[in-house]
Amino acid sequence: MASMIHRLHRIVQEVNRAPDIHRALVSITDSLTRDLSADACTIFLAQKDEPDILVLQACSGLNPDIIGKVKRKLGQGLIGTIAARAEAMNLINAPQHPKFLLVPDSGETDYPLMLGVPIIAHRDVLGVIAVQRREGNFNEDEEAFLTTLAAQLATSIERAESQGIGVEQNTRLIKGVAGAPGMAIGVALVLNRGVNLESVPDKRIADSAAELDHFRSAVGKVCEELTDQAELMREALPEEECALFIAYAQMLSGGSLIDDTVRGIEAGRWAPSSWRDTVEQHAHVFTQMEDPYLAERANDIRDLGVRVLRKLMLEHDSHIDFPKNTILLGDEVTATDLADVPLECLSGIVSAHGSNSSHVAILAHALGIPAVMGVSNLPVKQLDGVDLVVDGYNGSAFINPNKSILNEYRQYLREEAVIEQGLLELKNLPAVTTDNHKISLLVNSGLMSDFTPSLRSGAEGVGLYRTEIPFQIRDRFPSEEEQYLIYRDVLQTFEGMPVVLRTLDVGGDKPLSYFPINEANPFLGWRGVRITLDHPEIFLTQVRAMIRANVGVNNLEILLPMISGKAELEECMVLIRRVRDEIEEELGQQIPLPRVGAMIEVPSAVYQIEDICALTDFISIGTNDLTQYLLAVDRNNENVADLYSSLHPAVLKAMLQIVRGAAVTGTPVSVCGELAGDPLGVMALLGMGISSLSMSVGSLLRAKKVIMSFSYSELNELLEQALSMSDAAKIRQMYATRLDERGLGGLIRAGR
Ligand code: PEP
Ligand code: MG
Repeated sequence: MASMIHRLHRIVQEVNRAPDIHRALVSITDSLTRDLSADACTIFLAQKDEPDILVLQACSGLNPDIIGKVKRKLGQGLIGTIAARAEAMNLINAPQHPKFLLVPDSGETDYPLMLGVPIIAHRDVLGVIAVQRREGNFNEDEEAFLTTLAAQLATSIERAESQGIGVEQNTRLIKGVAGAPGMAIGVALVLNRGVNLESVPDKRIADSAAELDHFRSAVGKVCEELTDQAELMREALPEEECALFIAYAQMLSGGSLIDDTVRGIEAGRWAPSSWRDTVEQHAHVFTQMEDPYLAERANDIRDLGVRVLRKLMLEHDSHIDFPKNTILLGDEVTATDLADVPLECLSGIVSAHGSNSSHVAILAHALGIPAVMGVSNLPVKQLDGVDLVVDGYNGSAFINPNKSILNEYRQYLREEAVIEQGLLELKNLPAVTTDNHKISLLVNSGLMSDFTPSLRSGAEGVGLYRTEIPFQIRDRFPSEEEQYLIYRDVLQTFEGMPVVLRTLDVGGDKPLSYFPINEANPFLGWRGVRITLDHPEIFLTQVRAMIRANVGVNNLEILLPMISGKAELEECMVLIRRVRDEIEEELGQQIPLPRVGAMIEVPSAVYQIEDICALTDFISIGTNDLTQYLLAVDRNNENVADLYSSLHPAVLKAMLQIVRGAAVTGTPVSVCGELAGDPLGVMALLGMGISSLSMSVGSLLRAKKVIMSFSYSELNELLEQALSMSDAAKIRQMYATRLDERGLGGLIRAGR
């Protein structure tokens, strides 16, 4: 079994490392023929533009001239039947099968045994892998092996298939999930993070001579380091171990590794990608060797490859020229990546991983930057410098947009500018429904940069200040004084308006580099108030900074995250009172206890809502986490992003239960999750009678427009309809149609 796992792992790694789809497929057929002692192996893939047609893409043991020529429709021949049924076939006499179709000149009839399995990713049949033998049979273990391999390869093939598109100039639509609303036309920039060979993007360069200098300088530096290391090692290690460093240095002193890369650079390629391909080609030759010692040398070459790459990247990353309309693009764009791009240049974000409630999406939303998340087959490597259109409303992007798409989006952007202009006129008007219900509109914050836009958009206060953001951008816990200054700034900026500071909510997907937490299940683990109650020194320092910052301003409200029951709340209250008393004593003056509220984002809190409300001054519904916990859908996992919806009937029912429970004690209810800023969410929440919403500043005027266009009673009726529906998509559609009928469709989509 161990060797099977080892083989699987090796094949998948080889595929992931192959520079293009063709070599990936050749590598699979070669490896499978060897590992399964088969006589032949074939891979058919469905055509991108004609998914009903499968074309032979690679084979071993058969006449290679047939590659690209043999085609099967779904249901046609054995291959087409496997694809149509999405099911494996294991035959001992394939030519006798009624579906068998002879391929002339293939040599196929010599191999009567055939095992074929479908390759399926995200419910789509991408193709079929088949192995054939002259005699014997394919046993159950081999069938299981091929099925497992096909499942693992599906994602790699999906990704590898999309690698070829960057070199073409064709327009291509890629789909992900809507991360942050808005649209942008710009140029992709792939940041060279986490330096490894796989993630090096392709680029063309204009000045080969300068690029060659870069390359030679990086190689020279690594050579020197290796020679120095060999010297140092000599004192501690036997001579043969040190020899490895000398051998590495020699490989860099000349020979095909260097020459091939230089040729690539001279042909106009960027040094890192030319180096990447040379290293991969050399490593591949070793990987194919039967002798385990020689096969192991592939790793040495890659190791050396990464060393040189790091040096090259260091030189490149220090002087990036950010295009004026930079679309930041990567496998996993992070909040710190955002900080690397000057804000005036940042127009959009496209990330292969993450969803609309990932923190980078929330930050993008706050900054008014459109984001598309969870584009699972994003060909990151190929996209640096490529023109893109980002549509953050429906979670899609166009690579190499053609003229008509560019014109269409330019038109949308003009229309959006008109909508924005119209919305600005609402800034000083109260958010009142057509039947005169006043709604408080507050902002979610955590960045200094959103204070000014918040005030300019007419925010009535801060409904959620995520204090973890200042914690995340440091390399240690901020001191009480540092925190005091940050909190004082926000409290004073919004003087006369409520400011809700949430205590530290780290853990889950919000790590602190200097406080590592390793858990198998972080969202169900040590998070939010669970951490701060276990570390009262962190909680007490933070609450001290908050209460001191509030002296004389008196607009502080404290919000406690991840409350799952009464006991946590009681413990927090004891600590908050203690801090207040201490500060009173220190200052010799009376200090009012700030209002304290609980986030309702854990399902257990929903079912204890009355008890919780009895202990708090207000509650704030965190729809991001409440949705993830109620639906058991990870808010950051693109594989299940389709299932994540805060308009799901179960989430709506839970929120209604919260609102009704809070009414018993008359406790004010606010909503601070992303739903509060979604125009359709606003419609649903108002329907429940909620009158306080806190959202990213970019959503504020849109939400106001919705509020001013509907009556409470109409939205209440719509909510009744929504609650009678069984799925989130239908509910969304129902609200969207009503919004459109009111002439407000432009608030939620670009028009596509
Ligand atoms: C929420 O969970 O809805 C919320 C507002 O908090 P966060 O997104 O910071 O977890
Ligand atoms: Mg939360």
